[in-house]
Amino acid sequence: MSASPVLSMETLASLCKRRGFIFQSSEIYGGLNGFWDYGPLGCELKRNVREAWWRDMVLHREDVVGLDCSIIMHPRVWEASGHIGGFADPMADCRQCKKRFRADQLCEEQGLKLIKTEKGFALPEGTQCTACGSKELTEPRAFNLMFKTFVGPVEDESSVAYLRPETAQGIFAQFANVLATSRQKVPFGIAQIGKAFRNEINPRNYTFRSREFEQMELEFFVKPGTDQQWHDYWVEERMKWYHSIGLPKASITKYVYPKEELAHYASACVDVMYAFPFGVQELEGIAARGDFDLSRHQQFSNKSMEYFDPDTQEKFIPHVVEPSAGVDRITLALLCNAYREEWLPQGDKGGAVLLAEPGKQAPEGYEARTVMRFAPRIAPIKVAVFPLLKNKPELVQKTRDLFTLLRRHWNCFYDQAGAIGRRYRRQDEIGTPFGVTVDFQTLTDDTVTLRDRDTMQQVRLPIGKLLDEINTRIEAGMPE
Ligand code: ATP
Repeated sequence: MSASPVLSMETLASLCKRRGFIFQSSEIYGGLNGFWDYGPLGCELKRNVREAWWRDMVLHREDVVGLDCSIIMHPRVWEASGHIGGFADPMADCRQCKKRFRADQLCEEQGLKLIKTEKGFALPEGTQCTACGSKELTEPRAFNLMFKTFVGPVEDESSVAYLRPETAQGIFAQFANVLATSRQKVPFGIAQIGKAFRNEINPRNYTFRSREFEQMELEFFVKPGTDQQWHDYWVEERMKWYHSIGLPKASITKYVYPKEELAHYASACVDVMYAFPFGVQELEGIAARGDFDLSRHQQFSNKSMEYFDPDTQEKFIPHVVEPSAGVDRITLALLCNAYREEWLPQGDKGGAVLLAEPGKQAPEGYEARTVMRFAPRIAPIKVAVFPLLKNKPELVQKTRDLFTLLRRHWNCFYDQAGAIGRRYRRQDEIGTPFGVTVDFQTLTDDTVTLRDRDTMQQVRLPIGKLLDEINTRIEAGMPE
């Protein structure tokens, strides 16, 4: 099969809305820019992404423990981290049409580069407003991305607090408590999954850049001097992980930061990039941040962040390697990667499947299907269970019993409405990898058919072997 035509984000967003993956937040009131809700299927998909990360990064490792911090923390946390002083994007306005831009993105779109000056930033010669074409733009000024709020009944300077713009700082602030209670020794990591908030100047590309999103962050604490080796290790681990959730090798690349692009405290940084329909963009950043964060918290809190190594009798502030990923961006990458329109020989008889050509009808003898090819591991629903006919009580009862059995293991769906072919199509469109059909033969010999979403091949097997077979297929993942 040849490569898929480039997916339009409108097509994907329309499927996501129609089938209950993603809705605009507060849609009945016109929506709110930069905020999204996940529907019944979307929240299962996202949950599977989180669970895959947690299983692989925490549960399956002896050297990583979990943490769940509050979203609002003491404002000193954000002073120490540098967010109050420096967590800002450059913003520029068009004097003509008043549209507001993130200045670096505005330049990039025109093949230009924002100029760093002593005081801040300047737009290069020739930068235009992409909305009206005017060259009359304001000088870029720093816009802090943190959402402010007040704690308690009095709204004054002393009660100002912030919604966290990242989950990482909670981990640094609790480093000493976790160290004291978890019996971990350096090197070890602390992982956290949770919401983060950034008042992005220009939310765009569907859920890619939102104002409320979820992060999965690991802070892996290492002995000074071993930063590079651990950074290399985590880059490789993380690349493997993306393949394990079904993103093909060809779609995932690394962006290695040159020295001049690194933050002053960082010794290395690699972004994991995915080829979205709107360009190659970051899913995760993996940075070697030295002892910057712990040292700053030690300085601002006057509490020691030192570690005593019982083997070497040395005392030091650990360095940290930080793989920091976004749940929403990964979910969006999985949705983009899964989407495919195909033409299949009519009647589910098997035979060669063709990739649909955009805007064209299926040829004679073929029917069109949209299929979401999620890796079974992260598919929102794993198994759909069908009685061949809905008006035969014995078939329905047998299917309901099987459904009850399978639901103990995975998220399953029971469907008896309409012709069996149409029921298959509905599941294809939401990415359910396995379909189990109960027919008259089942009543006599306790066998069922198991249908594969991608090949559409059906095999007949005893109910007693179904759990093992589905488990094996989930473990096997997707072919490259
Ligand atoms: P960008 O350069 O795209 O703004 P960033 O480099 O500032 O991202 P980090 O601060 O490294 O992002 O955050 C780690 C991860 O959190 C990102 O790789 C991304 O997956 C996710 N993330 C950050 N900002 C957003 C956002 N506005 N919407 C959705 N996910 C985000």
